Amino acid sequence: MFNVQVPLRDKDEVFLMNTFTDAQLLVSPDVPELLDRADKGLAFTPEECETLEMLAENGFLVQNRAEERQALANFFGEVREDRDQLRVTVLTTLQCNFACDYCIQGDHDDHNLFANKMSLETAAKVASWIEGRLDEVRPSRFVLTFFGGEPLLNLPVVYFLAERAHALAEARGAQLLINVITNGLLLTPEVVDRLLPFGLAGVKVTLDGDKDTHNRMRPMRGRQGTFDRIVDNVRRVAHKVPITVGGNFDEDSVESYPALLDYLREQEFADKLARINFKPIIRTEPATPAAPKGFIPLTAVSDSGKPLGGACMTTAGAGSGKPASACDSCHFLDTKMEFLREETRKRGFKTPDGVHMGPCEIHRRHAHTVSPDGSLFACPGFAAEATQSTGHIDGRHESWRADSAQRFDTLGAYKNCGDCSFIPVCAGGCSVASHAELGDMNTPTCHKPSFESALISLAHSVASGAA
Ligand code: SF4
Ligand code: SF4
Repeated sequence: MFNVQVPLRDKDEVFLMNTFTDAQLLVSPDVPELLDRADKGLAFTPEECETLEMLAENGFLVQNRAEERQALANFFGEVREDRDQLRVTVLTTLQCNFACDYCIQGDHDDHNLFANKMSLETAAKVASWIEGRLDEVRPSRFVLTFFGGEPLLNLPVVYFLAERAHALAEARGAQLLINVITNGLLLTPEVVDRLLPFGLAGVKVTLDGDKDTHNRMRPMRGRQGTFDRIVDNVRRVAHKVPITVGGNFDEDSVESYPALLDYLREQEFADKLARINFKPIIRTEPATPAAPKGFIPLTAVSDSGKPLGGACMTTAGAGSGKPASACDSCHFLDTKMEFLREETRKRGFKTPDGVHMGPCEIHRRHAHTVSPDGSLFACPGFAAEATQSTGHIDGRHESWRADSAQRFDTLGAYKNCGDCSFIPVCAGGCSVASHAELGDMNTPTCHKPSFESALISLAHSVASGAA
């Protein structure tokens, strides 16, 4: 079920991959034929038997479909119950000093007047709750991500929690990895120096295209541009901490990315950038209290290389049916994702390969997002909707939160994906996108063409020795 193949005609070879075991092979064209024959149970020569054994060892050949489906269910069960890592994303504030066109969290209208900011008192309770989680889960790794709003607008809470998390993790022999997802405006060497001793592992900043495009998409209140200051800040800290550059694009801004990549390549810090990663923008319109404007799912950075760990996969779309919005042009965006990956790689930057994407953290029981008031959510993408809260750090019991927790406990859009070969790396797509665009988090948000084109790219990279 999970075998995928790409014929490499110029080499007279076939790239074979199993998305479940992640085995990747370059083989002669008779090997896929042999796999087809194995399916029919025909007789084989001793050499063919040897090849079949090797294929079985790598998961390309299994006893039967039922066994494979059971293995898939076990895999999702293991991801769900994995205690090797505890992941906590803390939204230190929902306030933001930007006024991005597409984002729920920017300084729009009176949003900042009412946006929550975590108090030090609540932060102390978050630390106690974290202590309880560490004692219960006993992970070998604790990944703490600061996000918002703009998390660096609440530095006292960031510093307090980083210090407490460090002490708690150290006392339990767990490795602490701290990530910060910031718009980059307040990212100074002082902030980085303060967090490094506690375990700062990565910072993600956002550039939405070249200077003009970024300044249009991500201005400050008052519409002043932010590009130059963010790049200056990155220049001052890139030698201290791995920086990931993320970018959100839509059909209007995507063409400006090659110019941004050229600009970044010319900077003296280019080789210090850990990776560059683009996402289509999700837009939910019109605004409703349940989905106030539109929001962008987020990527945790620097997860030390586990291929399926923590990658926040997203898709694009809108519910409005407006012809110009991204949701009406999924194929456009799937093609553009591949275009951006190629453009990024061409300039020597690392970027996700587009095949190894999920399951994302919403499928993990021991991954939590904490909002400024201490409410718990299954992932940052749902934190915009209070009714999606799955609990509270003070342990209060409320039936609506328990119902919500139950919903997330049984989440499984992939169960509606039939025999799709990409289930292990896609898991049915982003549940936030399904919820926002399709009104049902258990309906897959399918971007199969994006996986297929990324697979072709991966095959050629492997064949050329670049991957
Ligand atoms: S459901 Fe979507 S937003 Fe949430 S962690 Fe997964 S990919 Fe990210
Ligand atoms: S959402 Fe699409 S690509 Fe993903 S597993 Fe389901 S059918 Fe496959």
